[in-house]
Amino acid sequence: MLLFASGFIPEEPTDHPLTLTTPLPELESGQARNVSGAQGGALLPNAAANGVETRGPASPKEYVVNEDAVVTSETVRAGDSMALIFARRNFSARALYALTQTAHGETLTGIFPGARLTFESKNDQLTALTYEPGPLERVVFSREQDGSFSSEEIFTEPEKVLTYKHGIISSSLFSTSQAIGLPDNLTMRLAQIFQWDIDFVLDIRPGDEFFALVEEQYLDGEFIGFGDILSARFVNQGRTFTAVRYTTENGVSDYFNAQGRSMRKAFLRAPVEFSRISSSFNLRRKHPLYKTVRPHRGIDYAAPPGTPILAAGDGRVEIASRTKPNGNYVVIKHGEQFVTKYLHLSKFARGIKSGKRVNQGQIIGYVGSTGYATGPHLHYEFLVNGVHQNPRTVSLPQAKPVNEQEISRFRERTFENLVLLDHFNQQVALASTSQRS
Ligand SMILES: [Zn+2]
Repeated sequence: MLLFASGFIPEEPTDHPLTLTTPLPELESGQARNVSGAQGGALLPNAAANGVETRGPASPKEYVVNEDAVVTSETVRAGDSMALIFARRNFSARALYALTQTAHGETLTGIFPGARLTFESKNDQLTALTYEPGPLERVVFSREQDGSFSSEEIFTEPEKVLTYKHGIISSSLFSTSQAIGLPDNLTMRLAQIFQWDIDFVLDIRPGDEFFALVEEQYLDGEFIGFGDILSARFVNQGRTFTAVRYTTENGVSDYFNAQGRSMRKAFLRAPVEFSRISSSFNLRRKHPLYKTVRPHRGIDYAAPPGTPILAAGDGRVEIASRTKPNGNYVVIKHGEQFVTKYLHLSKFARGIKSGKRVNQGQIIGYVGSTGYATGPHLHYEFLVNGVHQNPRTVSLPQAKPVNEQEISRFRERTFENLVLLDHFNQQVALASTSQRS
């Protein structure tokens, strides 16, 4: 294996992008929709041939391509819909209807602000439309002889470069990540990998650290965003968790530990959307109320009103009701052994009522201060065979490991990303030791 080609291991624990000399493993995962002919088909042959810039400014701008074809483009604004845009441009509702009848017609019913639309028309009649929700995807609609439209979705495969990220938490996970150049959505994804082991609301402490091997995506040499997290490690209060991304033979990508055990478990550690809870909100709480009020048989998550509350595991809603002390509350039964309770909700999520099946991570309600509550918080209880347990320390049933038949495939495909992570971790540790001496 060419793992350690010279110059491969970083000299210092910084975040220099590293280009691998060997092909990246697992690149078929996630972006499995790659397309041959990376740049896709010619979108607007006339425009391309004439070197016309179709990625123009936000305001509609006209380019005369030849005598009878006109190409215009614009960026979707907040509040826009295709119907509005068509009306603005005097294209017929019939043309829009014809577009929605194509194989990719449904993409036009939920267009994103910021997405790019390019129109080609002849004699004021729409002949082609290109919708680009992002730099890697475009949907091309073309008028056929019979007046209907055909459609085609084209994916552009970005160039991928591996990079390492390391952060030591000083105040909050998000502020630390931002300081090393990680966007919040990547931090979210990182935390989600470990959300069955770590309570990101209550258990993060200064000094906790993380390491991640991440793809950076480039298009025509320009950085367009982060791709998959290939492997990651989180050290939380001295406990170390390591995860590696693996795509099974069935094409499902997920995270496993080095032994091939799924990172997923039957219950989330924290049944609240932690990204919505600002660090200052939490850090003011020196320790969870669990230790203070007795008898107190649950955990309190202080959180802004309206913060989504998530079902900790798959189950069935046993109670969704209101009492004077509990306020609005939900009880979920998970199989025969487990019950979880959620108190003081401002309101229930739509459709949440007794008998309703819920999935892990599904929003069941929102943080409030109904019932006997001094301020907005979620009171959460976890019962095993009718006995209250601390959900942050109780050992949870494991999810399915990698299939025994493909465990050697798993080892083969994850080995490199685990070794790279270890090496990066060692480099960081070495650097910090030498700094101290
Ligand atoms: Zn409580």
